[in-house]
Amino acid sequence: MKRLKPVDVVIAGGGWTGLLMAKEITSRTSLSVVVLERGPARKTSDYSTGMDELDYAIRLRMMQNLSDETLTHRHSSRASAVPVRQYGSFQPGTGTGGAGEHWGALSFRFAPDVFELATHLREKHGESKLPTGIAVQDWGVTYDALEQNYWRAEQMMGVCGKAGNLKGVKVEGGNPFEGPRSQEYPLPPHKTTYVTSLFRQACIEMGHHPFPVPTATASQTYRNPDGVTRSGCLYCGYCVRFGCMIGAKSQPTNTLLPLLANKKNFTLRNGCQVKRVIHRDGKAEALQYIDPSGEEIEQPANIVVIGSWTLNNTRLLLMSKIGEQYDPNSGKGTVGKNLTHQVSANVRFFLDKPLNNFMGSGGLGFGIDDYDGDNAFDPAAGLLRGGTMRVTSGGEGPLAGFGRTPPGETQSDWGAEWKKAALKWNDKSSSVAFEGGHFPYRQNYLDLDPVYHDKFGDPLIRLTLDWTDHERAQTDMAIKAGSAIARAMGGKLGETRGVGAKYSVTFYQSTHIQGGTIMGASPDRSVVNPWLQHWQMPNLWITGGSTFPQSGSGNPTLTIIAMTYRAADALIDRYIKQPGKLL
Ligand SMILES: Cc1cc2nc3c(=O)[nH]c(=O)nc-3n(C[C@H](O)[C@H](O)[C@H](O)COP(=O)(O)OP(=O)(O)OC[C@H]3O[C@@H](n4cnc5c(N)ncnc54)[C@H](O)[C@@H]3O)c2cc1C
Ligand code: SF4
Repeated sequence: MKRLKPVDVVIAGGGWTGLLMAKEITSRTSLSVVVLERGPARKTSDYSTGMDELDYAIRLRMMQNLSDETLTHRHSSRASAVPVRQYGSFQPGTGTGGAGEHWGALSFRFAPDVFELATHLREKHGESKLPTGIAVQDWGVTYDALEQNYWRAEQMMGVCGKAGNLKGVKVEGGNPFEGPRSQEYPLPPHKTTYVTSLFRQACIEMGHHPFPVPTATASQTYRNPDGVTRSGCLYCGYCVRFGCMIGAKSQPTNTLLPLLANKKNFTLRNGCQVKRVIHRDGKAEALQYIDPSGEEIEQPANIVVIGSWTLNNTRLLLMSKIGEQYDPNSGKGTVGKNLTHQVSANVRFFLDKPLNNFMGSGGLGFGIDDYDGDNAFDPAAGLLRGGTMRVTSGGEGPLAGFGRTPPGETQSDWGAEWKKAALKWNDKSSSVAFEGGHFPYRQNYLDLDPVYHDKFGDPLIRLTLDWTDHERAQTDMAIKAGSAIARAMGGKLGETRGVGAKYSVTFYQSTHIQGGTIMGASPDRSVVNPWLQHWQMPNLWITGGSTFPQSGSGNPTLTIIAMTYRAADALIDRYIKQPGKLL
């Protein structure tokens, strides 16, 4: 194996968190930083000819190639896992910028009680009233301690929205259920579309509290505190699963890479698959990887950061034999535990006018949190916590959008009758979407698959994951509430979708997978401390959703980025000055 000259910091993964760590370290210190990214190089101009729905949104050009590396899934530890050979329930990214290139940019803060959920639920309901097997844990950090980092993340990305709680004072038009914010959003909300205005009006009439969905697609030209300028969104609609051709959507390549590109102390190596963290005597020494020519290389460094998204963060620790694999029977071990997804549901509805669905932008729309968190508490329905609901005009391509018809409109799903109905209802449907927090359970976890391997011969990550009655209750509630809103909008109800009887890998739910290397206040129950430093190996740091003890409702990336800022501060201001355990 070829051993390279040591550097100060080596980072696995060149997505949101890997590049943010690199940017913070290289701009605030003279340390040398190398980022190893398995996928191709990317830049904004790559997207100037990218409006091809078939290529990007259906064949998923920017996602991880599943014939190189995939994952296996089973519903319980008694079952055999099978490999996921076609993209379904989530879509990991690859290449510079990671999934942050083709994300939807919806940028919610988590509610304050999410960070202390274990304490909150036990105090509110008592242990005996919690679902069987629940494994909620406090994060070891509070919303208040994270608030300034949320604000930094919102400024860096140029999030647009409307505050609903400024320093404890409720503000009309924003989300009254959000935690107190120190500042108004950096940018005003997006323009409103016809369908999202109907949702807003219906919600007001029903006594709900609609607010503009916060999104990191700039509503106007924006210069962030790092001096990076991005133009305002054109509502082109080719947003989620695409890179933005004008750089209006905040992506690592247009927000972080311009600051890194000319740094002498920064190197990005693409096409480099990290295989192991090399370590000795409780110290990480290097990352071992395969370069694009197939050569095995070792990159020594004083500090190692793993930012390769939830599944690979956990997989790398397990393959490197760092920490103890979690065992669901004994409850021992910390690596792999608290695997969560997001609980999603959808209510389709049809209106009698064209909606211009081809236009829009990732998260453009209105949401309500009237059914989120404790607001959804309904003991008769077996429901403790809910989630956030919204209608967005995210942009819908002709392939995905065509062919939807209300129930009973046509007897067939092909032929002349179907074509007539499909044309009649073309561009006249939308949906109320729900995203809820997913509790962790003792039986849901990650480990290495004993049978299936990737193209390099390394074991695939195995997900043991199924829904419980609580998630089914969450989506039953969401379908009921979403249907009532859709009807109040004048909509004719179409298909509804909840989580279903069993976890399914066959339909897209969201790429919000959390857990596996969770953070917490104690090394017995978590892998990293509240600054994302590994408990036993202080020069190893882990960033991303793998560190979340459970999912919040709403999309996770703003919280992931806020946590990365917090970790970067601890690393730069404390660890580098005095290496050792921070706690
Ligand atoms: C279609 C889609 C829509 C989304 N929309 C939203 C949204 O609206 N709001 C929201 O909050 N979140 C959204 N997300 C999720 C969001 O993209 C992620 O939360 C975010 O990108 C996570 O950042 P990360 O740095 O942890 O991982 P990533 O950005 O995925 O970066 C990880 C990087 O590590 C690399 N890597 C992995 N393994 C290795 C290895 N072994 N060696 C070297 N490199 C490796 C990957 O190639 C990748 O580039 C969406 C995701 C998808 C796919
Ligand atoms: S909708 Fe706006 S942010 Fe999204 S890709 Fe188009 S211009 Fe960019």
